[in-house]
Amino acid sequence: MHAVALTGKQQLEYREMIVPPCGAEEITIKVYAVGICGSDLRIFKQGDSRIDMPRVTGHEIAGEIVQTGSSVSGFQEGDRVTLGAHIPCGICHYCQINMGHQCVKKHSIGYQVDGGFAEYIVLPREFVRFGSIQKIAGTTSFEQACLSEPFSCVLSGLREVGARAGDTVVVYGAGAIGCMYIAALKRLGAARVIAVQRSAPRRQKAAEAGADIVVDPSSNNTSDIIAGETGGLGADCVIVTAPSSGLQNEALNVVKKTGSILLFAGIKSDEPPPFDTDKIIYKQLRVTGTHGAPRDLHMEAVKWIDEGLIDFDFFITHTFALYETDMAFHTADGKEGLKCVVQPQKP
Ligand SMILES: [Zn+2]
Ligand SMILES: [Zn+2]
Repeated sequence: MHAVALTGKQQLEYREMIVPPCGAEEITIKVYAVGICGSDLRIFKQGDSRIDMPRVTGHEIAGEIVQTGSSVSGFQEGDRVTLGAHIPCGICHYCQINMGHQCVKKHSIGYQVDGGFAEYIVLPREFVRFGSIQKIAGTTSFEQACLSEPFSCVLSGLREVGARAGDTVVVYGAGAIGCMYIAALKRLGAARVIAVQRSAPRRQKAAEAGADIVVDPSSNNTSDIIAGETGGLGADCVIVTAPSSGLQNEALNVVKKTGSILLFAGIKSDEPPPFDTDKIIYKQLRVTGTHGAPRDLHMEAVKWIDEGLIDFDFFITHTFALYETDMAFHTADGKEGLKCVVQPQKP
C-alpha cells in the first residue's frame, strides 16, 4: 500500500509500505478520509515525545472494514466506520472510570501506532476492545465521518464548560474547531455567540458558522464590545480555542462573575504562561480544560453527523489525494480554510 510517513521534522515521505497482517483480535480498515488535526501539524513541525519516526500520523479517520480477526465480534467486512483517537489500556484507573481518553498509557492512533495517512490501517487489539469504532449511517460520507473525532472533542469541551441555552458565549479562534463550537452552540440554543478572530477569511467563516457578532481584535477593543453586548456584565462562557496565553488571560477579563472558561488549546511552552488566579477567586469563576474525548461523546458526535444536526460539509474546505499530503499539511498550516481532509483512495 501507499502511506505517508513522517521521517523527521517537516519531512513527509510518500512511500510504499507493507499492509501489516490482521491479527486474531485486530481489524483492518481501508481508509477513505483522514482529517489533518492541529496536533498533526504540531508533530510535523516540532516532533512529539510520544512518537518515534518514521511514523504515519493521522487520527481523524473514516473508512471501511476489509478484514476482521478470527476472534473479533460485532464488526464485519463492509462496515463503514469512524474512529476515536485514543487507545485505552482498559485496566488503569481512568479506563476503569470510563475516561479512557485520560488513560495513563497515553496511547493514541498515529502516535505509538501508525495512523490514517495510508491506504490501510490495522487497529490493535486494545483499540478493538476499548477504543471507539462507530458504524456510520449510509447517508453519511466518509469525509463527514472523519470529523467525528474533532467534533467529539468539541462536545467534551461543551460538557465541561456547561454552556446552556440562552447563554452569551465568546469563542476565541475560528478555525475548524472554533467554527464547530460556534455551530454547535447555536444549535444548542446559545442566545449570542461572539467570535474573536484576527484573520479576515476566518472571520467570514465564523459568521457563516452562525456567530452573531464577529470581532476583529486588531481593529476593535474586544473587551469593550463584549461589555457592550452584555450590559457590562461579561459573557456567561468563554471558550479559548487558540493557543495563546494572552487570550487565556483576556478570557478572565471578558467572562462575567460566576461564569466559566474553557481552555481548549495547549500552549506547549517551556515556561508555564502567567495566569491571574485572583480573577478566578474574586470573580468566582469555573476554569476548565479538556483534551480529547471519552467514548460516549465520540458516539454522540457520530449521532450529530448522521442526523445532520449541523452542516458538517461546511467545515471541510480542502480535500487532497494521499500523494498530496505534504501540500495538505502546508495548506492546513496556512490557516486560510478550516479542515483539510486527505482521501487515501483517491487516484
Ligand atoms: Zn484531532
Ligand atoms: Zn488505561
